[in-house]
Amino acid sequence: MTFRAKHLLGIEHLSSEDIKTLLDLAAHYVDLNRRDIKHNDALAGLTQVNMFFENSTRTQASFELAGKRLGADVMNMAMQASSIKKGETLIDTALTLNAMHPDLLVVRHPQSGAVNLLAEKVNCAVLNAGDGRHEHPTQALLDALTIQRAKGRLHRLSIAICGDIAHSRVARSNIFLLGKMENRVRLVGPPTLMPAGVADWGVEVYGDMAEGLRDVDVVMMLRLQRERMDGAFIPSEREYYHRFGLDAAKLKVAKDDAIVMHPGPMNRGVEIDGTLADDINRSVIQEQVEMGVAVRMAAMDLLARNLRTSRQPEGVLV
Ligand code: ASP
Repeated sequence: MTFRAKHLLGIEHLSSEDIKTLLDLAAHYVDLNRRDIKHNDALAGLTQVNMFFENSTRTQASFELAGKRLGADVMNMAMQASSIKKGETLIDTALTLNAMHPDLLVVRHPQSGAVNLLAEKVNCAVLNAGDGRHEHPTQALLDALTIQRAKGRLHRLSIAICGDIAHSRVARSNIFLLGKMENRVRLVGPPTLMPAGVADWGVEVYGDMAEGLRDVDVVMMLRLQRERMDGAFIPSEREYYHRFGLDAAKLKVAKDDAIVMHPGPMNRGVEIDGTLADDINRSVIQEQVEMGVAVRMAAMDLLARNLRTSRQPEGVLV
């Protein structure tokens, strides 16, 4: 096993071997999750705390389920109701929590870099569940596992990531991961939604769906991240859907067996046509959700193994 990390803060600093280790273990957990009895004791005795400072449906639910299936004691902190509202800083909250001896801390925060900062202050394993527009590592891993299972491989594929790239942590983490696994990544969207410096990212950039989707194996759609926009980035949602919303007609230029992905939450009729999103012959959106639980089980299992190793007194072999 190569995975030696203490935290899972992003994809940027993982090696392709780390990614393979995570995905292999996640594949094992996909099988476990399909059985009647879905438990093992990989996290038995450990305490997992989920701190979500931003809304979440899928990610929080799947981290919670993942921890419970592995036997951890799982606590969801209601951050809306917590002392943060009373003006306590993120660091003070973290230190307070740290005093309760959690082993795994799952954190989502609206500010890029906040989770890295927190990881420096606590002595448990920290998992980034999405920080601002920076990274969302477990999303990229679950996307990778979905692609690998649908396409039979995770290299030399052509993958179009479309829409609001500028504000998307999902796009950033996927660009890192898919690049490390030697895929061709295309970004497709209006120039106003492309991040500054995108030319140096080792990707191809397109401003037009017909060109950007030509012959790709995978089409990954993104939500307009309105909560991260300060100003008008698109003329109107109607116009945006017309030019960049994915429907069956726009998908025609992709490979015949191209798959359609979306991290959720989806805005039907804005970035994707609802009928296409539900088309089980093209859309793997439900598989993404399934892979999410398995990937989070794998990530917490591997971090817990490293945590236990680091806590063993030197020279004692167990
Ligand atoms: N759920 C993903 C995220 O947290 C994508 C999105 O919100 O659009 O980044």
